[in-house]
Amino acid sequence: MARINDSYLKLQAGYLFPEIGRRVKEFTDANPEAAVIRLGIGDVTLPLAPAVLKAFHDGVDDMAKGESFHGYGPEQGYDWLSQVIIDKAYKPLGVDLKTSEVFISDGSKCDCANILDIFDLGNKVAICDPVYPVYNDTNVMVGRTGEADDKGYYAGIHYMPCIGANNFTPAIPTEKVDVIYLCYPNNPTGVVATRGDLKKWVDYALANDAVILFDAAYEAFITEADIPHSIYEIEGARQCAIEFRSFSKTAGFTGVRCGLVVVPEELMGTTASGEKYSFNKLWNRRQTTKFNGVSYPVQKAAAAVYSDEGWTQIKKNIDYYMENARIIREGLTSAGITCFGGVNAPYIWLETPEGMSSWDFFDKLLNECHVVGTPGSGFGPSGEGYFRLSAFGARDNVETAVQRIKEKWGK
Ligand SMILES: *Cc1c(COP(=O)(O)O)cnc(C)c1O
Repeated sequence: MARINDSYLKLQAGYLFPEIGRRVKEFTDANPEAAVIRLGIGDVTLPLAPAVLKAFHDGVDDMAKGESFHGYGPEQGYDWLSQVIIDKAYKPLGVDLKTSEVFISDGSKCDCANILDIFDLGNKVAICDPVYPVYNDTNVMVGRTGEADDKGYYAGIHYMPCIGANNFTPAIPTEKVDVIYLCYPNNPTGVVATRGDLKKWVDYALANDAVILFDAAYEAFITEADIPHSIYEIEGARQCAIEFRSFSKTAGFTGVRCGLVVVPEELMGTTASGEKYSFNKLWNRRQTTKFNGVSYPVQKAAAAVYSDEGWTQIKKNIDYYMENARIIREGLTSAGITCFGGVNAPYIWLETPEGMSSWDFFDKLLNECHVVGTPGSGFGPSGEGYFRLSAFGARDNVETAVQRIKEKWGK
């Protein structure tokens, strides 16, 4: 019989969302009349912007005629999409990229996972705690770790706790690590990194020949003027960072699927014999061999995100979500609950009242307010005592949920 990849057996059972679903079902079965409001999901709810939808439809229509039909496209994505991303999303930040440095994909989750193909298993990896679980679990799956301890930490990974005491800002490692995952604005904590914070990471990476994997899935939600949208706004980052971006949260593409990876040409790693080698070349080889590109109509739709009309419409959706975030953050704060995030990210990370555990607060919120959120402990051991609420819901639901929480905890 063929041997399985035993590393998969080290993964802890997909516990968080099934367990939330189980508890919500138990509650709604027992209380069928309760109007439960779900603020747990990390998925958008507003439909595609009209200009994006029109380009999507036009892309489909192109496929119906011989003269505009598109078969296989470039594995790296069409140049017209990469160029519009460079012109509209990077140039205004003072970041100049070539189309050969931009790789269009079907989303960031796959990219964050697939990038491990071009790194040796011997690399030491640093991951925040709490964290988007994909970074951790994909390292387990490729066999970079030992078993998990009883807290949930895997042997061989350098974990960086992000807690109230350090403002959810990970400490720069004092030992040498080779690959560092950073996500800003952060999921789940909703906090951002300043230029100064990112400069420390870039300096560390340059001094230690490390690579930063920078997940900017939420950059479009930044509202404060001086917060960097891209790691490449920091001098030296082209020599040490790969950036991931996604149309999912920015433009409601969670069900459409499109993202991108930037791998600068200056970014080098070393071979077994100690010579320098380009990560851009490796990623290009990886994509051309294992990936056949994103569908043409989807790329047409993605390009329309950056049209004047498209961006105006998308900005309106983002503003809608961020107004939800403000309502949640201010409402909970006025009820005496300590909140983080929600200013430059669509997530509010709150300290559970009265020192409750994350799951005890989940049960109390469900039973007494009929509101569903996500227990912080589900994102890592250091998330214990915290709780995530998402701003991706409908306005009236958000307002009702906040009202119920205020009635319960407000003095
Ligand atoms: C939602 C999200 C993504 C985007 O994933 P897609 O596969 O592009 O939908 C990436 N990183 C984080 C942290 C996210 O929360």
